[in-house]
Amino acid sequence: MTHSPLQLTLTEWDQRYAELARAGLREPWYGGPLARHVERENNERLRRLRFDSSAAALRLWNFLLTENERLRTARAQGDRLVGTMKDLGTVPVMACALPKVRPFYPDGAWWTPCLMECSDRLLVQADALGTDPSFCPVRAMLPAFLNDEHFPRPDLLICSTGAVCDDFSAIAQRLERLGHPILWWEMPRRRAPDPGEPACDLPGGLIGPAGQVECVREELQRVGVELGKLAGCDLTHERIRAGIRSANQIRRQLQTLRQTVYAAPGAPLPALEMLIAEMLAVHFCSDRGECLPVLAELATEATRRVATRQFVIPDDAVRVFWVNPVADLRAMNLLEACGGRLCGSDFMFTHALDLIPEDLPPFEALARTALADPMVGPAQDRARRIVDDCRRFKIEAVVIARIPGASHCPWEGNPIRERIADKLALPIVEIEIPPVCDALLPTLRTRIEAVLEIARARREP
Ligand code: SF4
Repeated sequence: MTHSPLQLTLTEWDQRYAELARAGLREPWYGGPLARHVERENNERLRRLRFDSSAAALRLWNFLLTENERLRTARAQGDRLVGTMKDLGTVPVMACALPKVRPFYPDGAWWTPCLMECSDRLLVQADALGTDPSFCPVRAMLPAFLNDEHFPRPDLLICSTGAVCDDFSAIAQRLERLGHPILWWEMPRRRAPDPGEPACDLPGGLIGPAGQVECVREELQRVGVELGKLAGCDLTHERIRAGIRSANQIRRQLQTLRQTVYAAPGAPLPALEMLIAEMLAVHFCSDRGECLPVLAELATEATRRVATRQFVIPDDAVRVFWVNPVADLRAMNLLEACGGRLCGSDFMFTHALDLIPEDLPPFEALARTALADPMVGPAQDRARRIVDDCRRFKIEAVVIARIPGASHCPWEGNPIRERIADKLALPIVEIEIPPVCDALLPTLRTRIEAVLEIARARREP
């Protein structure tokens, strides 16, 4: 069924869903109309968002919004659940390599106050637990653990420590004090190798000291032993190799999707759906098998739209690179309402987008990938990659989204801005987006529009 791409409100999606159903739409078991996520789970924010009108986007949203339900179903069927925290992309590859083990990120509670428009009261409860607004919205994870109303309690909780942000470290320690034991593993702060020091290539074009890779490898092996105990079988090299191959299949699919969308002359998919799709890289949204077809369907839709020149945003939209995830998903819609389109991103987990080396011993490969995390190394490394991607995708303007309370935001924006100014001289705006940004919309709109206007004025006549 051919259909011109649109961005629809939740109500408009009801009608679109009926059309698709009449045309013979086939959905996985977690499918259904989007509006039910408001009725059943109080995800009121969905009423204020605009969604891509494709069946592929419908599947993506249903996959995302049924994660907790799917986790509970998996547990009822005997699966063991692992809460993996902070590393964003590495431990889930190991957990998924074991039979009947499912990883998820309790950190994902980050978005619950946004989705429920704070009716969950998680941030208020987090205040009472000693994590006030001077912490980033990930503090919502703390009460979510205690009240059992969101994600199921994991059978094993694993968290990286060391080179992680102060916010997360403090919140995870508080969580442990509240009675949730955590298996900690150490992540050293990535540094450039000293002259003459043995060094290794890392994914993303980085280089790290061999000693640091060795340290992370030993830590991951220790984590692997505990995961094996949970699963009742060893996490053998063969199992991890197979797990790495499966993870890379998903990463390749995501690379195809990003390349198709970000390099296209118009936007075949909107920014919001691209943010959600990229997020799937970190833990396959708790179902590695299903994640692949979800992404493949989106990539097929994007390719079809590019081939037929059917774009969801006007062709003259400004090509924008977006730095950091947004606490309020509505901000991604706002970019388009202001006349921009997403053509590049660093949502803080670029190491989960890069392929894991398949020609190395598997724990060594995972250690190198973990050490390539943009948040465990100098912000200059992150800035370098952003500049390279800005060139690759012909970016015209950059938006740096600051996360309220996030301890890293005040200092990482400067090196990123400086490098972009030095190498590309692109217009940049830095904005802070709270979990529900409605009250700030006029200000945010003015600031984004201003930077897009500058970008437009710089275009060749
Ligand atoms: S402060 Fe930043 S890195 Fe730390 S948990 Fe929050 S968003 Fe993640």
